[in-house]
Amino acid sequence: MLDSRIPEGPLAEKWNTHKDNIRLVNPANKRDIDIIVVGTGLAGSSAAASLAELGYNVKSLCFQDSPRRAHSIAAQGGINASKNYQNDGDSVYRLFYDTVKGGDYRSREANVHRLAEVSSNIIDQCVAQGVPFAREYGGLLDNRSFGGVQVSRTFYAKGQTGQQLLLGAYSALSRQISKGKVEMLNRHEMMEVVKVDGKARGIIARNLVTGEIERHSAHAVVLCTGGYGNAFYLSTNAMGSNVSAAWKAHKQGSFFANPCFTQIHPTCIPVSGHYQSKLTLMSESLRNDGRIWVPKSKDDVEAILNGSKLPTDLKEEERDYYLERRYPAFGNLVPRDVASRAAKERCDAGFGVNKTGHAVYLDFASAFVRYGKTEALTRGIQNPSDETIVELGREVIKSKYGNLFDMYKQITDDNPYETPMMIYPAVHYTMGGLWVDYNLMTTVPGLFAAGEANFSDHGANRLGASALMQGLADGYFVLPYTIGDYLADDIRTGKISTETQEFDAAEKKVKDEIQALISNNGDTPVDDFHRRLGLIMWEKCGMARNEKDLKQAIAEIQELRKEFHSNVLVPGSENAFNPELEKATRLADFLELGEAMCLDALTRAESCGGHFREESQTPDGEALRDDENYTFVSAWEYTGTPSEAKLHKEDLIYDNIELKQRSYK
Ligand SMILES: Cc1cc2nc3c(=O)[nH]c(=O)nc-3n(C[C@H](O)[C@H](O)[C@H](O)COP(=O)(O)OP(=O)(O)OC[C@H]3O[C@@H](n4cnc5c(N)ncnc54)[C@H](O)[C@@H]3O)c2cc1C
Repeated sequence: MLDSRIPEGPLAEKWNTHKDNIRLVNPANKRDIDIIVVGTGLAGSSAAASLAELGYNVKSLCFQDSPRRAHSIAAQGGINASKNYQNDGDSVYRLFYDTVKGGDYRSREANVHRLAEVSSNIIDQCVAQGVPFAREYGGLLDNRSFGGVQVSRTFYAKGQTGQQLLLGAYSALSRQISKGKVEMLNRHEMMEVVKVDGKARGIIARNLVTGEIERHSAHAVVLCTGGYGNAFYLSTNAMGSNVSAAWKAHKQGSFFANPCFTQIHPTCIPVSGHYQSKLTLMSESLRNDGRIWVPKSKDDVEAILNGSKLPTDLKEEERDYYLERRYPAFGNLVPRDVASRAAKERCDAGFGVNKTGHAVYLDFASAFVRYGKTEALTRGIQNPSDETIVELGREVIKSKYGNLFDMYKQITDDNPYETPMMIYPAVHYTMGGLWVDYNLMTTVPGLFAAGEANFSDHGANRLGASALMQGLADGYFVLPYTIGDYLADDIRTGKISTETQEFDAAEKKVKDEIQALISNNGDTPVDDFHRRLGLIMWEKCGMARNEKDLKQAIAEIQELRKEFHSNVLVPGSENAFNPELEKATRLADFLELGEAMCLDALTRAESCGGHFREESQTPDGEALRDDENYTFVSAWEYTGTPSEAKLHKEDLIYDNIELKQRSYK
């Protein structure tokens, strides 16, 4: 039976009451307790640093050569907090409300409220660490706006917010490493969870440089291993991001929640060809100033494609600013799922503006003029020419998003100061993940999950700038309290031995799996299988899903998995640095997860957030929820094969928010 352990009492008091009542571990006892934290992104670094600061002995792992290279470093646009610095009416309640609504009413009220409550502390913590958030002229922290909200609550550091936040968390982590409270194991990959008497008591890891298989024990294990968007092969995630740690935990008894809830981000550089292995995000922050459009007439589309017209030749009245037309209240800042589907709708109708037919424009021309006029006034320039205005406006845009514009130019060889960017939706984030209770513990006692790895607080669609907030909330402010409630039972346990049957069995399993891959006499490279999996996922479990395609996808993935295990080529040895072997072990798990995602999507016959079932839409093509039958979290229990997983339902109770059809019109 699923027990989410949501505290009793009024919503706004639950977290404080819970903190006041859960059990504590006293400082002397903390010194006898070991915790393994897998992952050093924002969730993992902040958790490891905070737990060590509290006095626990922490072992931290990442597969990169440095904690600083965790995927979090790629985050661009910003981090939300309800500080109301803009005096525009923001509050804890509004952040809570926007997040629940943005997630299409498929997240837990209590968790989201806690997230909104601690959001302000995160900013203070990061400022104290020296994170260089953007500031206004007067020195106060600046804010901008992200999709799905009507206030400006996003704190940012140019287009490198993740990098700056991670440097802050990494410095806190480094301090604990230097004090000996954190043992840092770079280039180590967790390969298995070890359970003793039903509790998580350690892991098996592979040293990626030597290939050595190692045993590590602890009183609790925390997985901060990120999201699984790379199941789609092409995504905006770092190439190494994978599901393996979470999937191993799932196979050991942790339920996997809402695996089909995937976020497709509307503003990415479009796919250019078959040999591409990565997609690049153009931050959502750009939608503060960029306007999205396609030509109104197909003749103009044709003219642009054959080169007889440039996008800049089209007059205002010849452009269809379809988001502003369809959603006047939120315009270009509708949430990601809504903006992505609207782009797909226009491109499917034949208005795509590149050769593949899968691109729309993101245009800054009017922002150059708007900012340029203000800048001319502030600088006291009388009667500035149009050219001067645009030039001044470009300078302002450069100061806000310069690195993103440079990135776009380097990748596409088009100058976005001169011509609109071309963008198209791409896989970006996964709202699904390991099911956790209010204490962030999975269904395996002693096994916790934080950050993108858990199913978290975002329901069926995450609002922009909320992932960094959630990762740091989990790591700095939630887990350090809640883990003590579990560990209070372990103060007399003593060191956990690794010389036990359980560790023997787990190590053997890992070695056998690696051996099977290495000694396979196949002839097809890992990437070939990954690309094929990605295509099935994108076409049948991507932006739009239907029953027939999902059933077909499950069958195709099962076939592909069989072929992978009989025909994959993994060159090299298991006893050395072997990136192909790393990719193969991770893909083996993606090939199982993919099936689970399709099964979850098939079972949820409603549309909600990023999960769009074609059978369930309003007459004007919006996602149509079915609250009567689907107001629950799907928590899947592994039973041997992904397609035979057992569904457990956690009912979602809305006491404080009225469930409504989401509207951004
Ligand atoms: C391009 C891009 C831009 C983004 N911009 C924003 C933004 O502006 N604002 C926002 O809120 N969100 C943004 N996001 C989302 C956000 O960056 C992520 O959700 C968040 O950083 C995830 O943090 P994490 O700590 O959970 O995981 P990650 O940062 O992904 O870290 C995972 C860690 O786990 C480790 N790991 C994984 N598996 C294993 C294993 N088996 N063994 C050992 N170690 C393992 C890795 O080494 C790594 O250290 C963006 C995402 C992308 C892709």
